[in-house]
Amino acid sequence: MKLAELQQLESRWVMQTYPRMPVQFVRGEGARLWDSEGKEYLDFLAGISVCSVGHCHPAVVAAVREQVGTLTHTSNLYLTEGGVRLAERLAASSLGGRAFLCNSGTEANECAIKLLRKHAHSRGIAEPEIVVLEGAFHGRTMGSLSATPGLAVDESFSPYLPGFRAVPRDEPEAVRAAVGERTAAVMLEPIQGETGVNVIPDEVIIAAREACDSAGALLAFDEIQTGMGRTGSLWAYQQLSARPDVMTTAKALGGGLPVGACVANPEASDVLELGDHGSTFAGGPLIAAAALAAFDVLDDPELLRDVRDLGTRFCQGLEGIDAIAEVRGRGLMVGARLARGDPREVALGALDRGLIVNPIGEETLRFLPPLIIGEAEIDQALEVLRETLG
Ligand code: PLP
Repeated sequence: MKLAELQQLESRWVMQTYPRMPVQFVRGEGARLWDSEGKEYLDFLAGISVCSVGHCHPAVVAAVREQVGTLTHTSNLYLTEGGVRLAERLAASSLGGRAFLCNSGTEANECAIKLLRKHAHSRGIAEPEIVVLEGAFHGRTMGSLSATPGLAVDESFSPYLPGFRAVPRDEPEAVRAAVGERTAAVMLEPIQGETGVNVIPDEVIIAAREACDSAGALLAFDEIQTGMGRTGSLWAYQQLSARPDVMTTAKALGGGLPVGACVANPEASDVLELGDHGSTFAGGPLIAAAALAAFDVLDDPELLRDVRDLGTRFCQGLEGIDAIAEVRGRGLMVGARLARGDPREVALGALDRGLIVNPIGEETLRFLPPLIIGEAEIDQALEVLRETLG
């Protein structure tokens, strides 16, 4: 189908919630996508950090092909091995307790919010409060949305869930001051992705850890975007000075298929009990097969070292471009603040030259390439950006 025809159909039949770029992709392989006209693109967004293994990674494709012809769904009323193995892999590689599997990032945070609240109730807190950071993005369902200060202000969707308190993202003292007797948890993204790749200062992370410890509250990290190798370690917290009690992840976990998870340390692993939470599709054999294959690709010390090295190479290249005022991020999660120009215009210009990048807000470009790229792709992206911004 031609692009113009598809655009027309989309505007007629699809609820108009997404601002779409004028392109229709029909095929992907590794770090490359092809559109309906046969034009090739270098993908520096990877489905917003979903296709970290690259498009159609052979191991993921093989695992899904095998599983789809064997068993796809039984519900959580019965046991299947894949979901259990995935929970084992998630918990054993991070907090050591147990995992709850779900289907998306926002659902992973809904699970975390329930766990954090129930833990607070077990400590005798009648109206628990979760401290979140300004600039956070935790998802679009009502709980996660209420935890997202920048979005939970739109009256059209009110009333929001009570019990969230937002503090500035770069003030350790504000975090300390906000944590008190009613605090169930502090919940934060180690690097805020959706609001432009903002790295949370280590002092804030340490303040959150210390404040939670002295109040008896839990520390929860949303690693939905930062997890699965994106920052150059399997989990972003592994490069920080504090470890969370609860962690959520999604996006790259499924190797391109939808899956999410909430992982808890051993102390918080029994908070959610029989009947407390559930999901029909969660942890099914098909998605588990894909996620286990993605894990094999991404949980690899050599790949993670490359992510750190390539991130440095990319950031250094970006810093050398005149029209870029600031470069932020870690590993292959990178944001560039433009000194001039509209990021959407720049992204359209790059798209025209065969490079996919993501404009955020008034002044930022975000880059989340597949983690399987090499130096040649980094240099190609930099070349296109130099041309586009030059
Ligand atoms: N949390 C973070 C940090 C995210 O980046 C996102 C999505 O961008 C979400 C939560 C929501 O994930 P999903 O869109 O899978 O519901």
